[in-house]
Amino acid sequence: MSSIIGVILWIILCALTATLAERKGHKGIGYFLLALFLSPLIGLIIVACISNKTQKLCPYCKNAIDIHATVCGFCGKELTKKNSTNAEKEKWISERIVELISTGKTATDAKIQAEAEYSVEK
Ligand SMILES: [Zn+2]
Repeated sequence: MSSIIGVILWIILCALTATLAERKGHKGIGYFLLALFLSPLIGLIIVACISNKTQKLCPYCKNAIDIHATVCGFCGKELTKKNSTNAEKEKWISERIVELISTGKTATDAKIQAEAEYSVEK
């Protein structure tokens, strides 16, 4: 019985490692597997050391600001370089595809419509 509790605890700690990694903008599943096979303790230590991808440095005042910020909260300068990366586009489109499929569209139709909507909205 106690071994089952141990296994459950192990998995919970692995999930915690994954959650913390996700919060830092990293792929949670990779850290989950790492913690699962090595040790959640090692996983947590590694997650504590990895850089936070959800923040960037303001090019003007060098303060850490949100990665999606368009205006620096410290010096108020506008960050003209657009942060809409391909990854964000893919994420937006894939979320929209799921929405469209749930309304009864086929995957192909949903993809075409989502891409068309993205180009209009952005
Ligand atoms: Zn700044």
